[in-house]
Amino acid sequence: MSKPPLLELRDLNAWYGEGHALHGVNLEVREGETVTLLGRNGVGKTTTLRAIMGIVAKRSGAILIDGQDVTRTPLHRMARRGVGFVPEERGVFASLSVDENLSLPPVVAKGGLSLAEIYELFPNLKERRNSGGAQLSGGEQQMLAIARMLRTGVRLLLLDEPTEGLAPVIVQRIGEIIQEMKRRGLTVLLVEQNFRFAAKVADRFYVMDHGVVVDDFDVGELPGRMAKLTETLGV
Ligand code: ATP
Repeated sequence: MSKPPLLELRDLNAWYGEGHALHGVNLEVREGETVTLLGRNGVGKTTTLRAIMGIVAKRSGAILIDGQDVTRTPLHRMARRGVGFVPEERGVFASLSVDENLSLPPVVAKGGLSLAEIYELFPNLKERRNSGGAQLSGGEQQMLAIARMLRTGVRLLLLDEPTEGLAPVIVQRIGEIIQEMKRRGLTVLLVEQNFRFAAKVADRFYVMDHGVVVDDFDVGELPGRMAKLTETLGV
């Protein structure tokens, strides 16, 4: 039997109160892939990541990790299964130093990186190790948020618009980090508006509209789809 995908969403629905945000999302992410969710603002990309983590009030449908239904698994147990989420607002502890931020997360799954390994991978964080979270630039905060997840031993990293508002040189650095994590076997599901960035790191794309997936394709098909995508995404 072939190995199930690392993540599979089947007919995933999600609501904010009465607001029906996801209308049956179907997608899969295989181990080692980097997959990007594209779509206009408000189509449900962030909600998809939040629903996977169990941080929307109401959901239906199924979320499978390694073929096992985890739909009722609470947030902290998702971490134990090796799923980590870096939200758009990043969530670093502003009053704690870089060192302290990196020392807090428990290593919950096999393969969590040591502090020394993290500093090898993120030399700029090492330079800033005694700085407070609030003193970091947006790019440094993004790197710290990703680094914290790597400490925990994630296998599947959910990243919500990691390049938003960052300078091109930092965007490039974040791309290099994702490439390096890919080489180490990490699986990534990314929400991203920055096409050029996504084309460099992603193996496959899903396009969302009005709370459902309307298209999916491999990175090699991207050039041929640019015109249609530009129209769909309004970019
Ligand atoms: P963006 O890029 O703007 O974040 P998105 O594709 O990630 O867009 P979501 O943030 O998932 O879209 O939003 C999907 C729908 O759910 C939108 O109609 C949005 O207004 C609504 N929504 C999002 N968050 C909440 C919330 N906390 N309460 C109520 N409605 C929400």
